[in-house]
Amino acid sequence: MFLRALFIIVSLWSFSQAEMFQTVPEANATLIQSGKDKYACPNCGMHLVKFYKTSHTHENHQYCSIHCLYEATQGVIPTDAKVVDTITLELIDVKKAFYVVGSKMRGTMTRTSSYAFGSEKEALTFVSDNGGKVMNFEAAYAVAAEDFPKDFGKQATAPTVIPVIKIEVPKDAKCPICGMFVAKYPQWVAMFEGEKTFYFDGVKDMMKYAFARKLSSDKFYVSNYYTLAKLEASKAFYVIGANVYGPMGSELIPFETQEEAQNFARDHNGQKVITFDEITEAMVKSL
Ligand SMILES: [Zn+2]
Ligand SMILES: [Zn+2]
Repeated sequence: MFLRALFIIVSLWSFSQAEMFQTVPEANATLIQSGKDKYACPNCGMHLVKFYKTSHTHENHQYCSIHCLYEATQGVIPTDAKVVDTITLELIDVKKAFYVVGSKMRGTMTRTSSYAFGSEKEALTFVSDNGGKVMNFEAAYAVAAEDFPKDFGKQATAPTVIPVIKIEVPKDAKCPICGMFVAKYPQWVAMFEGEKTFYFDGVKDMMKYAFARKLSSDKFYVSNYYTLAKLEASKAFYVIGANVYGPMGSELIPFETQEEAQNFARDHNGQKVITFDEITEAMVKSL
């Protein structure tokens, strides 16, 4: 039983980390926290080895990203912070780092990515390969601050007049795919109700879970993006390619009716509205 659980964890781990630029072999990661919290961002719960290249330290904590550092420091620029050098993978003083912000490499907890380099030359090489702008820590922190309200559309929840039945997420529930605390992002909550219930921070991770285990659709639930109402995943309509991003980036955004989905797609540059059965594994991997 234990071995089986371990196998599942290991396969999920390798399955989901395959294409992430942020991930490094654990042996190459410097982790400053100890005990059971060693691997988790204290702000969002995400796994620090998986998101290592964007990791920042401050006081005795290690955060997954400048985004979580910003959230934890509440806009007071920390002077003791360190960041991972994308090339050497060592922790360096943020005051000496050259940040590349807004490259095509994916961000952690934000759509505007931020990667740090100990040498300006390396930063410029990265820019010529991947785009983005070189700036210092204070400027990168300011970008994180500016992006903060936009990320995840936290503030965008529509007021609901009729009480809706929502997916209730236990406070400590973590997404089995990415390790994030799910309750923090109610708009994106998805769920699998099997012998054991699992919660996800978005439809994308829910589908990764479903495809990896070949699970049938009838035990999956998603949240209507507008109302947060709990929907049967198999009956919802999903917008892909929109300019609204979940905690893990591009998402499949669920709605109860096709009309709602089409309206949202029109307002947010959505590429397409699809049904549950039209979601493919390749599509999920490409998001
Ligand atoms: Zn975090
Ligand atoms: Zn997740």
